[in-house]
Amino acid sequence: MPYIRFEGKSHECRDDESVLDCLIRHGITITSSCRSGVCQTCLMRATEGQVPEAAQQGLKETLRARNYFLACVCKPKGDLGVACPDAMASTRTQVTVLAKEILDGNIVRLRLGCPIPLDYRPGQFLHLHRVDGLVRSYSIASLPQSEEAIELHVRHLPGGRMSGWINDTLRPGDTVEVSQPAGQCFYLPGQPEQGLLLIGTGSGLAPLWGITRDALAQGHSGSIHLYHGSHGPDGLYLVQELRALAQRHPNFRYTPCVSGPNVPEGYAAGRAEDIAFSQLPKLAGWRVFLCGHPGMVAKARKKAFLSGASMKDIYADPFVIAPDTNQSAA
Ligand SMILES: Cc1cc2nc3c(=O)[nH]c(=O)nc-3n(C[C@H](O)[C@H](O)[C@H](O)COP(=O)(O)OP(=O)(O)OC[C@H]3O[C@@H](n4cnc5c(N)ncnc54)[C@H](O)[C@@H]3O)c2cc1C
Repeated sequence: MPYIRFEGKSHECRDDESVLDCLIRHGITITSSCRSGVCQTCLMRATEGQVPEAAQQGLKETLRARNYFLACVCKPKGDLGVACPDAMASTRTQVTVLAKEILDGNIVRLRLGCPIPLDYRPGQFLHLHRVDGLVRSYSIASLPQSEEAIELHVRHLPGGRMSGWINDTLRPGDTVEVSQPAGQCFYLPGQPEQGLLLIGTGSGLAPLWGITRDALAQGHSGSIHLYHGSHGPDGLYLVQELRALAQRHPNFRYTPCVSGPNVPEGYAAGRAEDIAFSQLPKLAGWRVFLCGHPGMVAKARKKAFLSGASMKDIYADPFVIAPDTNQSAA
């Protein structure tokens, strides 16, 4: 009989018993509703062992790749370690600031060292915890397969509590705590010829820089179009690096976009999402990634769908700013 490991304890699972029923039988409360694999209320994540295919039916590909499954229809054949998604996010790891660099666009690039490698995909986000309880989310720009440090791009907002502290006070050698990475905005291999459209504003480039390089590193052969927008050219960053990347990869096209009045040569005039959809009006079969300003993300999500992209192929991370009264990130 298989064993289910949950929060440090192992529980025997009867033949033909689901993970949900097994945990409930052992007095553990797991939120569930339909109990037939439809409502996805009992979503859990396997931390060890093999999840049966039937327990992942109907889940988005990105969730399947991260070993998420539905506990109510999961009848394990072997031992399984499981966790609630919330518990995964609340597990914290202490990391050390290895390097801090000020880039264009008021962006602070942080490189963080982790004693045990974090399990993540470029484009996911983590929560950064300050010792006084202030918490904010930041997207991951690095590639775990080739870069040891975790790279974050933090835009310094005037009066911003976390970004101001990161810009002014945090130093190499300091330690901070981060949560387990979460989110579904990342590249999945399997359809190398699919067109990829990525649109970001400001520090919304962080996940897109990670996703683009990840797709290229994994041999994506279809077109990859990245549009990065800002009001002025000084709000854009990594411009030279992205131009150099486009020179090395003929299937990658980078368009820096300036929506304000002074548009230098080599930059497109207008909002990133408007330029992207005017150049790529037909998106049936494309995968779309949208990150940054919540207004841009909402507008572009709708436009991508109306241009033919399937909802399941649209991945979006709006960088919601926490209200003044609330210290935690959205
Ligand atoms: C999933 C997710 C991923 C994210 N990833 C990133 C990331 O990779 N990089 C990143 O920099 N941020 C990212 N964010 C935003 C980040 O979590 C913080 O909200 C941001 O850094 C501001 O936090 P703060 O404590 O510095 O500012 P706060 O103290 O929370 O707020 C500062 C004040 O600035 C004002 N303000 C709001 N928007 C703006 C603006 N656009 N310009 C100027 N002032 C403004 C508001 O009045 C706000 O009250 C992400 C958010 C989410 C939800």
